[in-house]
Amino acid sequence: MAIAKREFDAVVVGAGGSGLRAALQLAEANLRVAVLSKVFPTRSHTVAAQGGVSASLGNDEQDNWHWHMFDTVKGSDYLGDQDAIEFMCRKAGEVVYELEHFGMPFDRLESGKIYQRPFGGHTSNYGERPVKRACAAADRTGHAMLHTLYQRNLRARTQFFVEWLALDLIRDAEGDVIGVVALEMETGEVMILQARATLLATGGAGRIFASSTNAFINTGDGLGMVARAGLPLQDMEFYQFHPTGVYGAGVLITEGVRGEGGFLLNKNGERFMERYAPTVKDLASRDVVSRAMATEIKEGRGCGKDGDYILLKLDHLGPEIITKRLPGIREIAIRFANVDPVKEPIPVVPTAHYMMGGIPANYHGQVVVPDGRGGERVIKGLYAAGECACVSVHGANRLGCNSLLDLLVFGKSAGERIVEDLKGGLAHKKLAKDAGEATMARLARLDSATSGESVAEIGAELRRTMQLHCGVFRFPDSLAEGVKKILDIAERARRTFIRDKSSVFNTARIEALELDNLVETAVATMISAEARKESRGAHDRSDYPKRDDGNWMKHTLWYKEGNRLEYKPVKLKPLTVEAFEPKARVY
Ligand SMILES: Cc1cc2nc3c(=O)[nH]c(=O)nc-3n(C[C@H](O)[C@H](O)[C@H](O)COP(=O)(O)OP(=O)(O)OC[C@H]3O[C@@H](n4cnc5c(N)ncnc54)[C@H](O)[C@@H]3O)c2cc1C
Repeated sequence: MAIAKREFDAVVVGAGGSGLRAALQLAEANLRVAVLSKVFPTRSHTVAAQGGVSASLGNDEQDNWHWHMFDTVKGSDYLGDQDAIEFMCRKAGEVVYELEHFGMPFDRLESGKIYQRPFGGHTSNYGERPVKRACAAADRTGHAMLHTLYQRNLRARTQFFVEWLALDLIRDAEGDVIGVVALEMETGEVMILQARATLLATGGAGRIFASSTNAFINTGDGLGMVARAGLPLQDMEFYQFHPTGVYGAGVLITEGVRGEGGFLLNKNGERFMERYAPTVKDLASRDVVSRAMATEIKEGRGCGKDGDYILLKLDHLGPEIITKRLPGIREIAIRFANVDPVKEPIPVVPTAHYMMGGIPANYHGQVVVPDGRGGERVIKGLYAAGECACVSVHGANRLGCNSLLDLLVFGKSAGERIVEDLKGGLAHKKLAKDAGEATMARLARLDSATSGESVAEIGAELRRTMQLHCGVFRFPDSLAEGVKKILDIAERARRTFIRDKSSVFNTARIEALELDNLVETAVATMISAEARKESRGAHDRSDYPKRDDGNWMKHTLWYKEGNRLEYKPVKLKPLTVEAFEPKARVY
């Protein structure tokens, strides 16, 4: 049966901060742009971002982009590409002021300028002391940002496809991307959206872990689409564990709490971060703080009857600061931990939070792959931005507030690049007769299966496996066992079965299709982690406890076919300034 088809200049998959920022650029250039989202745009995970967006505005104290660049390179444990990091840190002021002019309701200083707070890993004068760099709207910065961008898109007449699930990319015989196959969730109708440019902005994949700060929709769909299209995924072994997820619930307590003066305590009431990071203490970068917490727990200094959590104290800030700067946090603590932080500390544990890896892209948002001759090749028609992309500005560990910045900078630059490419003649290409057939076959298998394993059970097993074998601390035997288990899960996921086909709005089908993407993401993560024989940033191995620049100063590329790995060099040369040479990382 022929699949219905519609044509656009550009299709953007994802309506989070990155997708909306890019779409705005396209719609304002009078292009016909379609934005697809699984959920209503303002429910994308960007809405949950709390702490802030980083920019060296220097509103409250001296700051500059070169310090920001240094912190980001150091935070990345020297795996970040320095050209892209320079690009991002230099653009930060521009994109934040632009957002301000779009109507973003930032908090204000007495002077009327944007309020800025300290955040982990952000320092003044190349590591001397914490600096106020996070521009915030209370502890609801992402909420304010997403609503501002959505309204701006309405004004620019961006066309939204709400509750549409993109399933697969369409590539032509030359390997160019010419659109996507998508499913309207309510009706189950499948359609081809043909585009001269396709941008993936599908966000993170925290749902590959059992305990995560991420929304249920963060299932790595863009990564699954790319993997199935035969393209690689980069640096997937680097998954960030945020130090402060609510114990037992996983809900995030922003680092802004520590930025405002909160700190962590073990069961002896000791402020233990002083031992691990003497200079910046509780404001060290996230990998460092998460490991310190896990070590305290492992060595018997955790709190509670099972000794398995840490306390985050903030009552000394006083009710006024808490109500003014951290109102959402107080609400979360009362609801999810049953404590009022105005009076008592919050029980917290490190929780899966952010994917540093993703779809390999350059700082123009173009998807790039090795050309087989030591160089890189641009995949025509395909772009990626936001958490699903690996540019790589975050390297082996992202600094807090650098993701919202990444969305704005690279959402905009991808948008600009697409406009240029379309002006330069990137045209519609002919759809092959069999376009979309592989996707239809995947759907047909699901719909016709009369027995098999349940999607929910396989999903739960996948999450448990990742949590157990690929967590904050990684061990060789456990990683090897993890690879076996995850490959077995991947195999079994091909034989799932939907028990209740009549379920309303196709929810069971959608869960099954999302599982395919979780599987690709989890397999890539586990295999890349098992192969990297060093400790760097968020990847910490007991058998190789040190960073090994001699052998491992390189990006991992994982290919679905044959689970093959390839490596490519880190871009150590910035655009205009001198490179920051790798050093030991002390905070
Ligand atoms: C709780 C929390 C707090 C955070 N706080 C901060 C912070 O203070 N500062 C900071 O810098 N970073 C923070 N981060 C990280 C940051 O918020 C995210 O990395 C960022 O918002 C991701 O934005 P995005 O545009 O890439 O994707 P998202 O905002 O996750 O949006 C993804 C979009 O893709 C759509 N989508 C996905 N798959 C499909 C599909 N198959 N078909 C159609 N649509 C699809 C979704 O519907 C959604 O619209 C936080 C993250 C979390 C989880």
